[in-house]
Amino acid sequence: MRLILLGPPGAGKGTQAQRLVARHGIVQLSTGDMLRAAVAAETEVGLKAKDIMAAGGLVPDEVVIGIISDRIEQPDAGNGFILDGFPRTVPQAEALDVLLKSKGLNLDAAVELRVNESALLERVETRVAEMVARGEAVRADDTPEVLSKRLAAYRASTEPLIDYYSEKRKLVTINGMMTIDEVTLEIDRVLAAVLDDSNSAKPARKAARKASARKTASPKKAAKVKSAKKAAKAPAKVAKKGVAAPKKAAKAGSKAGSRAKTTKSTKKAVKKAAKTVKKAVKKVAKKAAKTTAKSVRKLAKKRAKR
Ligand code: AMP
Repeated sequence: MRLILLGPPGAGKGTQAQRLVARHGIVQLSTGDMLRAAVAAETEVGLKAKDIMAAGGLVPDEVVIGIISDRIEQPDAGNGFILDGFPRTVPQAEALDVLLKSKGLNLDAAVELRVNESALLERVETRVAEMVARGEAVRADDTPEVLSKRLAAYRASTEPLIDYYSEKRKLVTINGMMTIDEVTLEIDRVLAAVLDDSNSAKPARKAARKASARKTASPKKAAKVKSAKKAAKAPAKVAKKGVAAPKKAAKAGSKAGSRAKTTKSTKKAVKKAAKTVKKAVKKVAKKAAKTTAKSVRKLAKKRAKR
């Protein structure tokens, strides 16, 4: 299994990655950990990365792409891996695509842990307190000031990856605001669906959607599903109203479409609504033509009698 974990600092990527490692026997490849090790060992990469990391910036793409491509080559990654903290930019994601393709490997899913930003500072503070309690060295970038810079870097450079993987139908979104155990369960459930469907070559998003239909993971997704369902109901209403207000019907369809914008089911619903209206218009036109013909015949008969 090959996965990407996406989410802002403090979303719980590291914690969930460790659980996935234990469950699936794959390795966690954290560029943050690798870079911290390089900084500690004062290697060439470490010297390049040290100040950037301490300031909450992003290490240049070519540096992280280099370390990841070397790491993926290692035999322990042969059984699969979870990329934690990589890719963080679109060029890194593109480089990963090329890298995997060149090795004939496939990415199973990009798992996004979606969290409220307001909770992140508290989470990072908890992490620092736990590290201190364990007697571990605290990360230089785990301070409120640097966290806000790391968040800004996430928003500007990493968030576009949500669309990137969504377009590739690899994205699955998990509500990261649940408890750690609940998030783990949800990831397991969604991944089971992805792996199950990967045999029938269904994209990750489709499988995850199927899983979401059973139990929706993220509140945002729940709202989306709800509005898509509502939109799908719109044509039924339109059909009942017949042709009395085709404009109104079209409006209802398009209103439904704008509510759940890109969802396929909405597009389908709008199409169906338009079809229903078209059909009804045809029916009425036919009836009108019949009635006209009948009255013309009647008139002709009357005139003939006169
Ligand atoms: P993390 O442990 O994932 O939060 O990463 C800690 C820091 O390492 C980040 O704030 C960046 O400075 C750097 N870093 C880790 N991964 C990457 C990456 N893929 N691209 C650029 N910088 C990275």
